[in-house]
Amino acid sequence: MNELAVYAVSSGNSRGREVPEELPTGRSEFQRDRDRIIHSAAFRRLEYKTQVFVNHEGDLFRTRLTHSLEVAQIGRSIARNLGLNEDLVEAITLAHDLGHTPFGHAGQDALNECMRDYGGFEHNLQSLRVVDVLEERYAAFDGLNLCYETREGILKHVSRKNAQKLGAVGERFLQRRRPSLEAQLANFADEIAYNNHDVDDGLRSGLITLDQLEDVAIFSHHLEQVKEKYPVLPERRMVYETVRGMINTLVTDLIQQSRRNIKAAKVESLTAVHVAPPLIGFSQQIKKQQQELKKFLLDNLYRHFRVVRMSAKAHHTIERLFSVFSSEIKLLPTQYQKKFDREGHQAIADYIAGMTDRYAIKEYQRLFAIVEN
Ligand code: MG
Repeated sequence: MNELAVYAVSSGNSRGREVPEELPTGRSEFQRDRDRIIHSAAFRRLEYKTQVFVNHEGDLFRTRLTHSLEVAQIGRSIARNLGLNEDLVEAITLAHDLGHTPFGHAGQDALNECMRDYGGFEHNLQSLRVVDVLEERYAAFDGLNLCYETREGILKHVSRKNAQKLGAVGERFLQRRRPSLEAQLANFADEIAYNNHDVDDGLRSGLITLDQLEDVAIFSHHLEQVKEKYPVLPERRMVYETVRGMINTLVTDLIQQSRRNIKAAKVESLTAVHVAPPLIGFSQQIKKQQQELKKFLLDNLYRHFRVVRMSAKAHHTIERLFSVFSSEIKLLPTQYQKKFDREGHQAIADYIAGMTDRYAIKEYQRLFAIVEN
């Protein structure tokens, strides 16, 4: 473990767990959180959930699992450099996408629309719900009983309405206080990871091209550097080298700028972090370059007709599943029927959100296709 800065989260200033437990031996509280997350069923399901490309489209594209691992790797490097709690960052980043529906954002949007009359569906809140309630593996409590700081980091956003129902972990959204620097950092690690791997996956899929990317400043800058150093290089290696260069620049810039921010704000405790402005961030120049890259990906990858077509199918699948379960509760597996009696439509949302891409496709076929399966 690295030397912790005074503003880091530590076991000493942690607000602890909802259900008190004995201290772990041989590992820290946050290492225990990470271990619980890795052993959860929801974590295993990430392997078959989409990031941008649907799971069956190819074996080399990122899934939510490989995405989460990349986020954890980037997050830990940054944490170590800033004297922040690396174990906490690892726990937050590995858990940050646990609540995602099948089929990425299309699935989440569809489920949110379906749940409109029943409180809506928010994937960040669902990630918290997974670790707080839905995992059933301990005798003494529901969920994983994670430390407050891990839960705070997982709940990146939440509506005010839902924040009011959440108790301590919802308070910061009502009082407009900042989460720990570890939680702030996890968001940036997420952003660095997905922007860069979407470039890589986008090129691999052929939906975007190197030619197009040469108009994007941060990409062309790094591509030029690679070409200068290695004039003859197969395209795949050139892309890897360029992406590696971009990640390195972003991580380095984030560390340097955040260090300056922390120093300027004279933050000397965790309590001070909560009332200071957000302190983890990029320099203005890199922020602008990141925005340009994001816009490029939005216009050319996420809105590519093939991605839109897949999203439309995903939307349709989730919508049909939700509506058929709502009109005939007996189509739900028995445990979800019981849950529906207690919790209403939230039970259907939990069932659907927990599905992997391929499970949702299979369930759709079982329900709507007149074939043997
Ligand atoms: Mg993510």
